[in-house]
Amino acid sequence: MIERPDSPVVGALHPSANFGERKGGAIPSILLLHYTGVESAAKAISWLSDPVSEVSCHYVVDEAGFVTQMVAEAKRAWHAGAGAWAGDTDINSSSIGIEIQNVGHAAGYPPFPDRQIAAVIALCRDIVARHHIRAERVLAHSDVAPSRKIDPGERFPWATLAAAGIGHWVPPAPVRADDTGVGLGTSGPFVAEMQTMLRNYGYAVMPSGHLDTATEFVITAFQRHFRPARVDGRIDQSTFATLQALSAALPAETMIT
Ligand SMILES: [Zn+2]
Repeated sequence: MIERPDSPVVGALHPSANFGERKGGAIPSILLLHYTGVESAAKAISWLSDPVSEVSCHYVVDEAGFVTQMVAEAKRAWHAGAGAWAGDTDINSSSIGIEIQNVGHAAGYPPFPDRQIAAVIALCRDIVARHHIRAERVLAHSDVAPSRKIDPGERFPWATLAAAGIGHWVPPAPVRADDTGVGLGTSGPFVAEMQTMLRNYGYAVMPSGHLDTATEFVITAFQRHFRPARVDGRIDQSTFATLQALSAALPAETMIT
């Protein structure tokens, strides 16, 4: 059980029993952001510390920006579930998880308040600095589990975080109303090129050349994070160009070949 906070921005400890050891001596190399999807941070904290839930996270940030730590960073919290990033399929062992209070898409999905985002930025900045987490490994839950998860969603202000030095991001290419792109069921080299770029960036997708359901989920997750103006799972020129620019902005040694 956690006895002292890992970060100076923590306002309270609320220990959860739902954690284990990081497997294979993994150290945190991913910072994974979520929304709670429940009506209040208090309710989220209660659930995340209930042994029945079998879920937890390292930190919860409420709407006012108050930060509660639940699991020590050295331990493996249970927030990611099944997922993958850059070939890693045990995201819980390789990540630190932050739950950001928001009722979520099913209950109106309100904007994230500025003071909450300021607290998220301060917490992320501290975690990234202490663990040397690379910018392109500050991720959404939906990035690592695109077929199951949509949080923290397209209203999460990734651009604001990037302006504060958190995460990897480029300005999205403009969306054109007359370019609806191609969708589910499309095949061809264009689709394979998109899949290859997505895979090289870290998404779990096979370059089959066929825009199947799994690929549609990954494109949707990509759009939620990097091109939120239109989240439709289709490959349009803006989505393609945004991914190209994002990939080009990666340091070469981080590319998976
Ligand atoms: Zn989540």
